[in-house]
Amino acid sequence: MKKHNFSAGPCILPQEVFTKSAEAILDFNGSGLSLLEISHRSKDFVAVMDEARAIVKRLMNLGDDYEVLYLGGGASLQFAMVPFNLMKSENGKAAYLDTGTWAAGAIKEAKKFGTVDILGSSQESNYSFIPKEYTADSSYDYFHCTSNNTIYGTQMKEFPKVDTLMVCDMSSDIFSRVVDYSQFDLIYAGAQKNMGPAGVTLVVVKKSILGQTGRDIPSILDYEQHISKESMYNTPPVFPVYATLLTLQHLENNGGIAAAEARNTAKAALLYGEIDRNPLFETFCVPEDRSVMNISFKLLDESKKEAFESAWKAAGISGLNGHRSLGGYRASMYNALPLESVEVLVNVMKSL
Ligand SMILES: *Cc1c(COP(=O)(O)O)cnc(C)c1O
Repeated sequence: MKKHNFSAGPCILPQEVFTKSAEAILDFNGSGLSLLEISHRSKDFVAVMDEARAIVKRLMNLGDDYEVLYLGGGASLQFAMVPFNLMKSENGKAAYLDTGTWAAGAIKEAKKFGTVDILGSSQESNYSFIPKEYTADSSYDYFHCTSNNTIYGTQMKEFPKVDTLMVCDMSSDIFSRVVDYSQFDLIYAGAQKNMGPAGVTLVVVKKSILGQTGRDIPSILDYEQHISKESMYNTPPVFPVYATLLTLQHLENNGGIAAAEARNTAKAALLYGEIDRNPLFETFCVPEDRSVMNISFKLLDESKKEAFESAWKAAGISGLNGHRSLGGYRASMYNALPLESVEVLVNVMKSL
């Protein structure tokens, strides 16, 4: 029986994506060949890559001033590629928001390229909120933020107006809510949270911001190289790209981002409602910054721990343990998670 999968990533995808990608592994487009054994330069795969790039711009409502890339190396590689491509080689300076483990990881890498100013940090309160009072002026090469903090369960509800380039790590809430994507100059997201299987990272970048740093960038790390080769500078991760395309087609065919947002809001309201009502549970973060995607929470009565854990396991729930750095529980409720799974969890919480 299919489990109720609350895993933080890799994570649940639409069932249709599993079925269709399994079919493509056996026989791709009736070609008598597997998706895994054809050239990435073949007509059939080039069509996949073209559509996988085009659908992102349609969903994000972006024009031709943006390029879409599918790269390897995970979102973690972007922690280094962003400063390599955007921070000036002389007196380079960038502004970062420190909102969690992943933001801190991005900061650590950027420091290897130049000066990093941290405009706000909630580290001392164990990342329980999103810092809000700050400005990024034009002396910075760019500003970097993390839209959703996968581990701590916080999410930026609004994005600041900055006087420099705006870069965002959207790994864990991309395509989950209606956002004006054109306020960003560069967006990146590891696919395995809300978009596809592990192994590919989406990068959406405004072409005009590139080539300004004076740095000699290794080709494989240079966005301009990847753009000029239409995201096939080297052999792309063909299977993750195909499965991501299927996920995005599923999203487009089911009402797009607005409909996904409505479903996600309903799921989050149901679970937060129970956490707030039930004296046994509490979130780790302040109410105004609560994430709609990853709900991290704790059980306040240790004596109920065993009962809770055996009850959710018996109910067919998987992937509810919190991240090792925070403890407690984490319900990751990405686009593909049905409301029914949240109802099952809430019923278990009520029964304690
Ligand atoms: C998971 C995650 C990452 C790291 O992604 P990898 O693809 O494993 O490198 C970075 N940022 C955020 C917000 C994440 O949730």
